[in-house]
Amino acid sequence: FAAVGSSKAWAFYQAAIDPHRPERLSLMGQLRDALAQDQLQLHYQPKLALASRRLDGAESLVRWQHPLRGTIMPDAFIGMAEDTGNIQRLTRWVLEAAIAQASQWRVNGLQLGMAVNLSARDLGDADLPRYILGLAAMYRLPHEQLTLEITERAVIGEFEAALRVLHQLREQGFRITIDDFGVGQSSLAYLHKLPVDELKIDQSFIKHLMDDANDRVIVRSIVELSHGLGYKVTAEGVENEATLDYLASIGCDHAQGFFVARPMSADALVQLTTTALHQSHA
Ligand code: C2E
Ligand code: MG
Ligand code: MG
Ligand code: MG
Repeated sequence: FAAVGSSKAWAFYQAAIDPHRPERLSLMGQLRDALAQDQLQLHYQPKLALASRRLDGAESLVRWQHPLRGTIMPDAFIGMAEDTGNIQRLTRWVLEAAIAQASQWRVNGLQLGMAVNLSARDLGDADLPRYILGLAAMYRLPHEQLTLEITERAVIGEFEAALRVLHQLREQGFRITIDDFGVGQSSLAYLHKLPVDELKIDQSFIKHLMDDANDRVIVRSIVELSHGLGYKVTAEGVENEATLDYLASIGCDHAQGFFVARPMSADALVQLTTTALHQSHA
């Protein structure tokens, strides 16, 4: 154990477990430029209403189109943006792009709700509700068409501050969803204290749903819990038809996942929605 404490052992340990550390450092430096140079892009993953089998919403998912490395996925840079103090700018960029898109769809006659993921740090930003209100006014987006997705972890961090921000948003008519529900360390004791409209069941419970009776028990319970508390419920990570049908049969409200549709460009989503509408009228 003594050797582990010495700086030499530490340096070796670091190099052994994290050979890409220099790359990570250089990416961190480039994130600021990415924001300034318009290298971020949103993809949209449709949301299917299970009762009507209609696509009635989309979730925005950010990607970094790096000039040399190609597409970088959010799990590789959101944490970095939080650590380097860039998350506020990133979130505000995403909010504006997503709200502008939802507003444009609306003008074109396509009524789709838009969901935006917030990070833990965002809930400590007391100015966020005012910023979102300003965007909704500027783009003339009805408030109930914008949903903010937050994880349990994000709320636990700074509970009081987060609660204030969420209350302000919800009082203005924006929707709040708890994302990745079931994998956080949150207790049910405070769940009902949160101003929430929807729970989104984490994909780890959905992936093997048809092969795992325990997962089905958990998912049925979450659906019942949600409805009992007056929340809607969405399942994420739906990858096959049997899972979709099962979720519909237990009264789950919405489904998202590769079986429904992958995240895609705004244009592709418009095409898909229009095709789906034609099919349901046929
Ligand atoms: P999330 O909000 O839970 O989003 C769902 C993730 O699961 C997305 O990955 C999506 O592409 C993926 N997914 C959807 N359906 C399926 C499926 O059927 N199977 C599998 N295997 N995966 C599926 P993505 O786009 O890589 O995003 C990962 C996470 O990054 C998101 O998880 C969210 O927490 C975060 N994120 C994405 N965009 C933003 C953003 O604009 N701001 C912030 N703060 N976080 C974001
Ligand atoms: Mg999400
Ligand atoms: Mg999720
Ligand atoms: Mg996630």
